[in-house]
Amino acid sequence: MDKRQLFLNNVAQTSELSMGLEVSRAEGMYIYDSSGKEYLDLNSGISVSSLGHLNPRVVKAVHDQLQRYMHTMVYGEHIQNPQLIFAQRILPLMGEAFEKVYFLMSGTEAVELGVKIGRLYTGRYEVLASKNAYHGSTIGAESLRSDLDFTKYMAPGVPGIGHIEFNNEDSLNKITEKTACVITEVVQAESGINSPEPAFLEALRKRCTEKGAILIFDEIQTGFFRTGSLFAYKKYNCIPDVVLAGKAMGGGMPVSAVFSSNDIMSAIIKNPALAHITTFGGHPVCIAAATACLEELLEKGIGAKVEAKEALFKKLLVHPIIKEVRTNGLMMAVELKKRKYLKHVVEHTIKNGALIDYFLFNNRSFRLAPPLIIEEDQIRDACNILLASMDYAQGLYK
Ligand code: PMP
Repeated sequence: MDKRQLFLNNVAQTSELSMGLEVSRAEGMYIYDSSGKEYLDLNSGISVSSLGHLNPRVVKAVHDQLQRYMHTMVYGEHIQNPQLIFAQRILPLMGEAFEKVYFLMSGTEAVELGVKIGRLYTGRYEVLASKNAYHGSTIGAESLRSDLDFTKYMAPGVPGIGHIEFNNEDSLNKITEKTACVITEVVQAESGINSPEPAFLEALRKRCTEKGAILIFDEIQTGFFRTGSLFAYKKYNCIPDVVLAGKAMGGGMPVSAVFSSNDIMSAIIKNPALAHITTFGGHPVCIAAATACLEELLEKGIGAKVEAKEALFKKLLVHPIIKEVRTNGLMMAVELKKRKYLKHVVEHTIKNGALIDYFLFNNRSFRLAPPLIIEEDQIRDACNILLASMDYAQGLYK
């Protein structure tokens, strides 16, 4: 039986349209399939592989930590050097509002903890999220979604959740003395790259402070220089109470984190004690990888080069079937004039050796989120493949 058939038979699928690429290896900007075909990675496994694949510094950090220890005890009980080193490195870069980090494994868990902290710290119940956001796939994170057509299948969700509209200052009056916390992305990713109005963020911060609600920024996609800054809250100079990170943090290893102040983080120590616990959160091998990834991003000045790369993509992506190119750093959405073009563009691009993807909540746009290390000639290659796919899609409907 071939591998594809084994995959379909034995590995659980999440849709009937799996890409099903047979990965044999990956290095730098490229992923290779079992026939040796090379694919330029313009996805980063959805905003994960910012340093490309198998970055030598990250690989070495993993090897080195494997020689010392792997799992020794559940989170928060043993003192482990990788966690200390990472915390000491990143917290000063985040600013004085951030004094503590809680390590987890996935984005959705960070969201769960963020919301729990909001409730525990304030003693309040109501949670507000932005419409058209995706925060993860646990029941808690799914309950934050505004699209009932999706969540009705798994209802009932967590009670006490309402919605504000991203970039709509009028909707901020929903934040009241009853609001425990507001959770939002800084740049909405899955709705097809929606950047914030600085005035909206400012009003959001102000209203949360006035009403005593905790402001949580989900920076799981925007973190670690995806938008050019270490975190997007820095780019917009709007400091939340809690930052959630994941995805690119581990350089390809599964790790996520919740950052906040000593005061707010104390909410999970008492009443109740052990308010959030995890077996594998902060796994030393993953955190060692995260430190190596951070050091590499900083040392190579990768964030500072993001803006020029974004500009080159924007300059090259000009085509009659494009309606709009929305970007925030190397988070990019290319919106096509007609929905019918989308599938053809995506499939043709993959066939021609570049990996791109769809968005969850935007059926006219495709996603570009290449590793941040992408070079100028690779951006040109990428855009040539994309433009040829758009020619192809346009030609189908002439
Ligand atoms: N928040 C945001 C903004 C995300 O984009 C994602 C993943 N796409 C998540 C949370 C959930 O992360 P994970 O898949 O690691 O649970």
